[in-house]
This record gives sequence, structure tokens and C-alpha cells, in this order.
Amino acid sequence: MRDFTADHRWLSINTATVRRQHGRDWPLLEILDACARHGIRAMSPWRDQVAQAGLAATARALKAHGMELSGYCRGGMFTSPNARDDNLRALDEACELQAPCLVLVVGGLPGALAGRPEHKDIAGARHVVHEGIATLLEAARERRLPLAIEPLHPMYAADRACINTLEQALDVCDALDPGRAGAIGVAVDLYHVWWDPKLQAQIERAGRERLLALHVCDWLVPTTDLLEDRGMMGDGVIDIQRVRGWVEAAGFAGYSEVEIFSRRWWSMAGDDVLATCIERHRRCV
Ligand code: ZN
Repeated sequence: MRDFTADHRWLSINTATVRRQHGRDWPLLEILDACARHGIRAMSPWRDQVAQAGLAATARALKAHGMELSGYCRGGMFTSPNARDDNLRALDEACELQAPCLVLVVGGLPGALAGRPEHKDIAGARHVVHEGIATLLEAARERRLPLAIEPLHPMYAADRACINTLEQALDVCDALDPGRAGAIGVAVDLYHVWWDPKLQAQIERAGRERLLALHVCDWLVPTTDLLEDRGMMGDGVIDIQRVRGWVEAAGFAGYSEVEIFSRRWWSMAGDDVLATCIERHRRCV
């Protein structure tokens, strides 16, 4: 297992972590500058932030800083109308930014995210998701841009993602890419999968070809908000180092991407949050 205690070479910042400090949107290009100032070498931006900053301007700024991406957030939502066209645009943006993968949050029951679920057929939703990924995979293969399915915690099954375990995600990968050609894999976000009794076995099953991204944060006890109360690494109950050990034993050698949606951390100065991420990455990841 790699030693993270001496430097933060393998730290990446998911830009949601510092997206709106003190109640104000922190513009992506300013986040990029701040990450560079802190010696952070990689990030994973969100599409809305890139749209605001401009795709070409973002690509230029990344290049100017020598900043790599650890992913691009995000595509998916296959049960929504217009998913197909929107995902093709996401793929093209990911290519333009030279992202290593497009992260997929696959969607749940149609209409549920807006509070008006159209039906109760989650198996049907999963079928639609499977077909949507299959179609997108053809376009992803043409662009040589891998798709990373991110299983979400079951509490999001209705409205955000009906793929909820690594096993489910890998079943889709194996069905669509039986030769393990590297076109599709998974994003392992510890917040979503830490509780899973099959986690270690499924990480081993995934192997190097399927492990495309590792997202870290912590699970607070008690958790007070379903979306915006993720913890800083070391503040909760996830055995982060143990799981990183499994992921690396399976062959993963990429970035550990800090992704924290938290009103608490959004209420602080962005530079302080980045400094804390670096310190915790060394000590707790
Ligand atoms: Zn994630």
C-alpha cells in the first residue's frame, strides 16, 4: 500500500468539496488556482462548474497548471428524459478536458428526484439504466473514454441511483464488457459502499481493469442530512485505510479523490478546507 504520510501526490479534490464557501459559489478557475497553490495535482470538476467557467477556458487553465483530472462529474440519470443527448455532451466535455473517465450516477425512479415518481417499478428502472449504459458505452468506446459506474448508498435508490452496490455495478460491467477491455468500470465512493459486507470481495472481483476512481470522505455518527452532511476523513466511522488497502491490493494506483458535500465544510474558507484535506489525506487516508 502506498505511503501517503509524507506528501499529497495522490490527493485529488472533487470540486463539490469547496463549491460554495461562505454561501458564495467559488468559481472553478479560482478553485483550480487554489489547488495549485496548495500543491494539489489533480481534481474532479462538476459539469455545472465547467459550464460556468467555460469548457475551453477550463481546459486551458488545467493545462497551464499541469493539473490532471481524476474523473469528470457526472453523466448518468438514464431514467430522465433527454438522458441520451445530455450524456453524449458529457462525454465530449470529458474528452476535451482529458478526463480519465466519466462518472455515472445512474438515476432512480423517473420523476422521483423532482418529488413526483411516475411508478414504483425499481426493477424496471434498473432495466432502463442497463439499456442506457449499453447505448452510451458505444459512444464511449468510440471516444476511448471509459465509463465509471458509481454505486450510491441505498438511501438514494429512489431518486438518484438504483445501482446501490459494487456487486450490481460490476454485474452491469461484466454483462456489457465481458472481455474486460477497460471501457467500463466503477467509481468506488467509500461514503456509499463502506457498509457493504461484500465490499472486499467485490473490490477483488473488480480488479485493476474495473477500478477507475476512488472517492473518500467519512460517515458521521449521527448523520444529520442525507445529502449535505458528509464527514472529513478521520471524523467518522469508515475504516478508510483498510479499504484503500483492498483497492490497492486489487491493482488500483490512481488518485484518492476527496468528495465532501457538507454544509459545515462549505461554511469555512476554501483555503482552510483544502489545507485540512491535505492534512487528513496524510493522516487518515
Ligand atoms: Zn462520489
